[in-house]
Amino acid sequence: MVLDDLAEVLERLRGMDPSALADTESIVAIHRHLAGMEAVAARATAAFDAAGHWAPDGALNATAWLATRCRVPRAEARRRVRRGRALHSLPEVDHAWSEGAITGAHVDVMASLRCPETEEALARDEALLVDQARTLTFAQFSRAAAYWKQRADPDGADQDAERRRARRDVYLVQSFGGTWLGAMTLDPVHGTIVSEELERLEHELFEADRAEARDALGRDPGPAELPRTPGQRRADALVEMATRSKSCPRDARRPAPLFTVLVGWETLYGRICELENGTVVPPGELLPWLDRADLERAVFAPGRRVEISPTTRLFTGATRRAIEVRDRECAHPFCEVTAPFCQADHIQPWALGGPTTQENGRLLCATHNGRRNERPPPVAA
Ligand SMILES: [Zn+2]
Repeated sequence: MVLDDLAEVLERLRGMDPSALADTESIVAIHRHLAGMEAVAARATAAFDAAGHWAPDGALNATAWLATRCRVPRAEARRRVRRGRALHSLPEVDHAWSEGAITGAHVDVMASLRCPETEEALARDEALLVDQARTLTFAQFSRAAAYWKQRADPDGADQDAERRRARRDVYLVQSFGGTWLGAMTLDPVHGTIVSEELERLEHELFEADRAEARDALGRDPGPAELPRTPGQRRADALVEMATRSKSCPRDARRPAPLFTVLVGWETLYGRICELENGTVVPPGELLPWLDRADLERAVFAPGRRVEISPTTRLFTGATRRAIEVRDRECAHPFCEVTAPFCQADHIQPWALGGPTTQENGRLLCATHNGRRNERPPPVAA
């Protein structure tokens, strides 16, 4: 009967002009209800699973039944059953999901934290983690969860890192028609090294494409007006990488990866150990790099001030570096562009007497830096 009521409400919503629901408040409310509805489905599915109502049809388990009767992909059916089961041991997660305050993706992260070694700690910290899931962006929450797992089960984190390293693989093979096809799997540290260089070269090509299109059009080009797609530029960047590698002398000085170890944050947020792009790594994963990497130590002092140790990579200045490790990404609340691709910007403009200090600095990506005068400046997180 309740489902009939729901069908009636949905019928009314279906009859509405979508533009009547297109304001910011309605969009947030709709997504909240959608998440809450998913929670209802997950709980019902878990009860269905436990009661064995799938057995009379001859299905081997609830996943198989769901995949056939509800015509969802098997992986999706498995995920729905798993999420429902996970709620049994995570009452705070159950509550927040039912309210629509968190999503199924948050539930997956929370469920992944649970293993025999962490069970006790998770029962103690569940409410705290759910609080973070309610307030942080999903990316920030995932990072916080990764740190929590490292602390709760340090041995497990090191084993996970070993397993991830062991799965590394590059597949590049010539097809029948002569085209090359490929895919790759890399652990966080090596993947970051490859991806950042690829991104750097792609950015060079992007700037070249933009300049070319601007000359041809006599104005700033839109994304569709560039001569190459992002995928085509990435492909060209990879070829450029191979060409440069071949022309580089064997004994040339290699750039050292930069690891940032943030200290003094422990009392608030716990140990921080991550790559510049925000990937969380267990400290053990950094050990093999100690003789090859640049390490810098950043000490967080009261009032959000950062003291930076001298390193070999401070050609942009210690003040900029301090802003980078403090903010880590574009200060615009709707943006996650990471520090290496941001510009340090004066909050109070230099022309209006704004000083070049940490306190008056923030990171903005090229787009948001360009738009800073269009609307009120974004509030730093
Ligand atoms: Zn931005």
